[in-house]
Amino acid sequence: MQKQNKGVLIAGAGPVGLCLTLKLLKEGINVTLLECLSDENFLDQIPRAGSNHAATLEMFDEIGLYEKLEPRGLIAPKFQYRERKNNRLIAEFDHSVISEETRFPFVLQCERIKVIEEAMIMAKSHENCNVRMETTLLNFSQTEDKIMATVRNSAGEEEQIHSSFIVGTDGGRSVVRKGLGIDFEGFTYPDRVLNIIVAYDFTRDGFTDRNYVSDPDEWSNVFHWKGPPEVWRVHFPADPDAEDSSLTSENALQGRLQAFLPAKQDYKIIGCNLYTVHQRVASRFLGGRAIIAGDAAHVNSPIGGMGMNSGIHDAINLGEKLSSIFRGESELESLERYERQRRHIALETVQAQTIRNKRVLAEKDLAIREKNHDQLRRTADDPLLAKEFILRTSLINSVREAAAIQ
Ligand SMILES: Cc1cc2nc3c(=O)[nH]c(=O)nc-3n(C[C@H](O)[C@H](O)[C@H](O)COP(=O)(O)OP(=O)(O)OC[C@H]3O[C@@H](n4cnc5c(N)ncnc54)[C@H](O)[C@@H]3O)c2cc1C
Repeated sequence: MQKQNKGVLIAGAGPVGLCLTLKLLKEGINVTLLECLSDENFLDQIPRAGSNHAATLEMFDEIGLYEKLEPRGLIAPKFQYRERKNNRLIAEFDHSVISEETRFPFVLQCERIKVIEEAMIMAKSHENCNVRMETTLLNFSQTEDKIMATVRNSAGEEEQIHSSFIVGTDGGRSVVRKGLGIDFEGFTYPDRVLNIIVAYDFTRDGFTDRNYVSDPDEWSNVFHWKGPPEVWRVHFPADPDAEDSSLTSENALQGRLQAFLPAKQDYKIIGCNLYTVHQRVASRFLGGRAIIAGDAAHVNSPIGGMGMNSGIHDAINLGEKLSSIFRGESELESLERYERQRRHIALETVQAQTIRNKRVLAEKDLAIREKNHDQLRRTADDPLLAKEFILRTSLINSVREAAAIQ
């Protein structure tokens, strides 16, 4: 077995690319990290993920990131399933049932933007990391022992970078995935999602920091985020054919919130955005020395908060395999196991669970709705069932399941 010399080229400094960077740096491997955004607009990205589950918190801890994130986030040990009609609680779950399984029996509500801000500070301050902002991966080719990537650098010039491996953590439109000719199989939901950011304390109305609200017509997620300013994000389904402006005007947003939870005054709306939701998993996660991870390899509905989390799990898993190859302890073929493990989880856990999550929240058949709600109540009331349920939602089970795949 030969030791590898050159480092890893990582395309995309989202949460997945940055966690992979920190993992590799911790293992003593040189990283060149490309990010097409500049220092000026890197932190201006629209609000996205932010519910970090127990299994992910353990990984943040391993790469030294957890201690930076905890003060910036909100510890949320509980979550609720609610019914929109009459603002009724269906069931409340408490992560304390898994306190013997993890040192993080909670979700850390810490937005993606804070995760990448802190991780980027760590990456930039590391002597073995070359962070290239405003540098876009254009294409790449490979031989048996190296990658030749072409990038457009911050001066607007094309430049070649050589490395031992390239990892595409460049999001849903991944240049690396397309360069490998890999299919992105799945579907796109017809309805869009409207995300409203509002300064209103939903705990006054019985909500906890994380809430899934079921309704046959207008399901919703209601999540609390640490300030300043202290805000909540409320998600609603949005008509795919409506003009954006008719969905996002102040009047329209007030109307949606007032219909959801009537308040005496207008809601203080901080912002909003609309997005399309895809359920897709790449048919392969690698080709030779090029590998994909995170949204580049799988995208899913945000209900359940699993996209960013499972992408970070890809990063840590892949970081271990690459480190072992660099140390000369395993061959290139060990990357096939990364694909077997993480593709299985993307399909059988993340995709299956997020499809089910949406179906449960939006179920139209009254009898099935009642059956689902009874099931949730029974699960929450039974300590053993509740523990099994939280081991699944916290993604601890998915990490254990992946580890068992050879
Ligand atoms: C509204 C919304 C809410 C969500 N909520 C949650 C949640 O609560 N929990 C959860 O787990 N997930 C959630 N997700 C999903 C989550 O945001 C993504 O799964 C996660 O951001 C994926 O991380 P990533 O690093 O793979 O890709 P990204 O976050 O997309 O990062 C990719 C990076 O690559 C850069 N880039 C792209 N192309 C190139 C190129 N050619 N060269 C150089 N750089 C490039 C981009 O600028 C970006 O910085 C949500 C998504 C949405 C839309």
